[in-house]
Amino acid sequence: MYEFSLTHSVNNAVQDLCRQVGWNKVRRILIKIGGMRKVNPELMAFIFAALSKDTPAEGAIFSVMMLPVTIYCYSCKRTGTREDSEFMCPSCGSRNVKLISGLELAIEVLEVESG
Ligand SMILES: [Zn+2]
Repeated sequence: MYEFSLTHSVNNAVQDLCRQVGWNKVRRILIKIGGMRKVNPELMAFIFAALSKDTPAEGAIFSVMMLPVTIYCYSCKRTGTREDSEFMCPSCGSRNVKLISGLELAIEVLEVESG
């Protein structure tokens, strides 16, 4: 399952940070994900809740921000964004395009309780 492997790497990164910095409680996590990665944010939150059980991130609010896909079109020479993951020019519909962004996966916000 795609969501599982992505969430697993996010969980590992959070656990590593907690160990290194010494955080004992994570309150909120916001992940940003490029729209080319077809993920189900609710499913990721569900998986994260299971993976983070008995860790500092147990019970943390987990949310996902989807980033638009940015595409450059060789046919009409325009750069545009799409909300879906269709690999196609948003202006003219050509498939003669290249991906500029849309594959991001990063922890954008990590809110912790200090002390
Ligand atoms: Zn085009």
